[in-house]
Amino acid sequence: MLRVGLGYDLHRLSFGLPLWLGGVQIESPYGCVAHSDGDVVVHALIDALVGPFAHTDVGELFPDNDERYRGVRSLDLLREVRRTTLKEVKIHNVDIVVILDSPKIAPYRSLIRESLAEALGIDKDMVHLKAKTSEHTACERVECYVVALVEKI
Ligand SMILES: [Zn+2]
Repeated sequence: MLRVGLGYDLHRLSFGLPLWLGGVQIESPYGCVAHSDGDVVVHALIDALVGPFAHTDVGELFPDNDERYRGVRSLDLLREVRRTTLKEVKIHNVDIVVILDSPKIAPYRSLIRESLAEALGIDKDMVHLKAKTSEHTACERVECYVVALVEKI
């Protein structure tokens, strides 16, 4: 049975913090304010993947008031979800839209696709990433939407 999952996440940006997107550190004067590493792409991706069959979300799986997850690498959480919650789920493809005014993430696109494909154990061709800006209407935040096609096996 095939199902579509949708995920969304948003983080506020602040100067002097590291910026992680899809498990890749982006050179940037500012990064996400978060309990974890604030990887907005991984958070939205987990939501898209665990919604359709497990009926849960990243906040329920990894509560942001749990000290175990302070500063955690979100890509490690994605790997854990892949091994456990998604054990019986085949991931057909994921399509990601990141909304960020600067820095430009196009130079990192291939690296991010590789990083996510490796964590999910799927072909890089199945991970698509688009970068948009907010047209300077939301300079202090980064947003991400993800859709995923998944199948119970
Ligand atoms: Zn998040």
